[in-house]
Amino acid sequence: MTDRLLERRAAVVAPGVPMATPIAVVRASGASLFDDRGREFIDLASGIGVMNVGHSDPVILAAITEQAAKLQHVCMHITTYEPYVEVCEQLVQRFPHGRDPGEGTRALLLNSGAEAVENAVKIARQITGRAAVICFEGAFHGRTLLGMTLTSKVAYKRGCGPFAPEVYRLPFPHALRNPASSPQAFADRELRRLRDALKSHVAADDVAAILIEPVQGEGGFIPATKEYLQGLRELCDETGILLIFDEVQSGFGRTGAWAAYQRHGVVPDLSTWAKALGGGLPLAAVIGRGNVLDHTIPGTMGGTFGGNPIACAAALATMRRIEELGLCERANAIGATIRARLTALQKRHREIVEVRGLGAMMAMELCVGGQLDRPAADLVRAIVQRCQREGVLVIGAGVHGNVVRFLPPLVIEDAQLDRALTVVEQSVSEVVS
Ligand code: PLP
Repeated sequence: MTDRLLERRAAVVAPGVPMATPIAVVRASGASLFDDRGREFIDLASGIGVMNVGHSDPVILAAITEQAAKLQHVCMHITTYEPYVEVCEQLVQRFPHGRDPGEGTRALLLNSGAEAVENAVKIARQITGRAAVICFEGAFHGRTLLGMTLTSKVAYKRGCGPFAPEVYRLPFPHALRNPASSPQAFADRELRRLRDALKSHVAADDVAAILIEPVQGEGGFIPATKEYLQGLRELCDETGILLIFDEVQSGFGRTGAWAAYQRHGVVPDLSTWAKALGGGLPLAAVIGRGNVLDHTIPGTMGGTFGGNPIACAAALATMRRIEELGLCERANAIGATIRARLTALQKRHREIVEVRGLGAMMAMELCVGGQLDRPAADLVRAIVQRCQREGVLVIGAGVHGNVVRFLPPLVIEDAQLDRALTVVEQSVSEVVS
């Protein structure tokens, strides 16, 4: 059936929709995907960071079915329903953004990460009365027109311009690649560059927001440092610029905490969420300080399906399951195993120039001959394809396509992870030598 399905896809589906593998899946469970012949693939992609609780979790499935039987859709703009409110209650409790309890935290729900980012920018503009947004090289913020403007990799945006105005892009502070004498010295140097940009690119008074992924996702799993994020917070407080963290890929247990920013103790003014929040159904959120979201202008946010009751029921069950199954702790254990195996592999292959990540958001970057100016996208493609042939679904990342990323469901069993990493090791050894 797979070949026939791929033919049918080619005949009717627009080629603009990416196709990373020729695998066609009919069902999934835990960390396993199955094709129509019952062939198993160990999933190290989680539908790009969505299925943190694993495929077909019985509690999430039950919540979806129960909600579907009660109320499928009414639109929050028209009538109020409890699942939407309850998701927002959970979000503001888990991710307090207010400076003090008096200020509080608010949220709104949408359908996708791109929509969450768009709305966070709209909110920052409404509140500050300023237009500009600062974002970073390597960033990915979605495929809507503003999301795409904020996204860095040109391969994702070819032919789609003209792009939105007032977007300024700076180099991402990549500590592993551009080390300094100490973490603080690194942060000071990078923040000096940012302050220079407020003289040479755009005036602070014109900037509504700085938008950053605490761990860059599509850019290749590059973590920002605690000291840098702390410095960003201070700079934003000084200048009245709002700080937005995009947690779409790093949120909900993935990095060993509910939010990557919680690992650094730096709280943004606004944050964006999607992917794992909905447990496999489309749901996104913007969370923000009470003093910011309370001033959003009625009628300017939302959408027909944003916060659909079934997606909200799935999100509530997802949050319960992350808690019950201890998935934040599990993410750290999974991440430690992946890091140890990849670091050992790196010692045998100079092509692996970096092993990096946070929690269970891990990656390895490859360059030809270990030379940083020769990104090895071909090697990554070959490794990914060999893994797929051997029943392991792993995907690439990075502006140059030379990163292999690991995003397993956080319920993956130790034996499955071991098997998958063995295939990765064999694939690297075969492809690189
Ligand atoms: N922001 C980040 C950090 C992402 O990784 C993504 C998707 O990969 C998005 C935004 C866009 O999310 P969506 O594909 O749900 O629009």
